[in-house]
Amino acid sequence: MVDLIALGGQVNLDVDSTQREPRFELEEVDLLAPLVPRKNVFAVGRNYAAHVTEIDSTRTPPSHPIFFSKPPTSIIGPGEAIVAANDPTDSTDYEGELAVIIGKPSRRVEPDRVWDHIFGYTILNDVTARVLQTRHTQWLMGKGIDTFCPMGPCVSTADEVRDAGELLLTTSVNGEQRQKAYVSEMIFDIPSLVASLSSVMTLEPGDVIATGTPAGVGSGFEPPRYLRPGDLVEVTVDAIGTLSNPVV
Ligand code: MG
Repeated sequence: MVDLIALGGQVNLDVDSTQREPRFELEEVDLLAPLVPRKNVFAVGRNYAAHVTEIDSTRTPPSHPIFFSKPPTSIIGPGEAIVAANDPTDSTDYEGELAVIIGKPSRRVEPDRVWDHIFGYTILNDVTARVLQTRHTQWLMGKGIDTFCPMGPCVSTADEVRDAGELLLTTSVNGEQRQKAYVSEMIFDIPSLVASLSSVMTLEPGDVIATGTPAGVGSGFEPPRYLRPGDLVEVTVDAIGTLSNPVV
C-alpha cells in the first residue's frame, strides 16, 4: 500500500475487480491494517479542548501541537485483539481518532497547500496504558505497546471526503457510546498539524498522522473505566467505516 501511494497519480485506483479472480466476500477474509508506514505513526496529544480538561480541570489547551509517535510494531488490523495483558499497569484506555495518510513527499508545506499532500484517511485507536504514559513522562512507552495501535478498516481517499472537518467521530465500548465529536472541534486542524511537522522533517508517502482524541476516554471517568478482557471497542468515522477490536 505504501508503494502504491508513492506511485501517486501514475496509478488508477479505480481497479476493476470484476476482471480479477478469485474474488472473496468481505465476510470471508480477515482484513489487515490498511498500511504499515515506514516510520513510526505520528500522533497528537490534547487536540480537543474538552479532552484537555476531562482528566485535569486545571489544564489549559496547548499553545503548540504535542507530537509523539507509536512504533509500527504496535499496529494491528480491524478485528484483531488488543492484548491488555501487554500493559503491566492494568490501565489500558481507548482513544478514537481520525488518521491522515500523507500522499507525497512533504517538506515545509504551507497550510493552504496541505490538502494537496493528503492521500486519504483511516481510523486509528490510540490505545494507551495511562499509568505508563504518566510514570515515564514521555508518552512513547505508554502508547507504543504491542497491539496498541488498531488501524482500519479501510482508507477513504481524499477525493471521497469533501470536508474532513465535517466528519463525525464516535467511540463505543460494548455498545455504549463514550466519545462523540466533529473533526472541526480540533484545536490544531489538519493543515496546521501537517505544516508544523513538515516544517522540520520530511513527511513521506504512507506516513500516518493520528489527529488526537475527543473527550470521553476511560480515564476521564471517576473511577476510571479502563478496558478489560472481553470488551469490544468500536471507533466510527462517517465516510470511512467502523474500526472494531476485541480486548483480550
Ligand atoms: Mg491520542
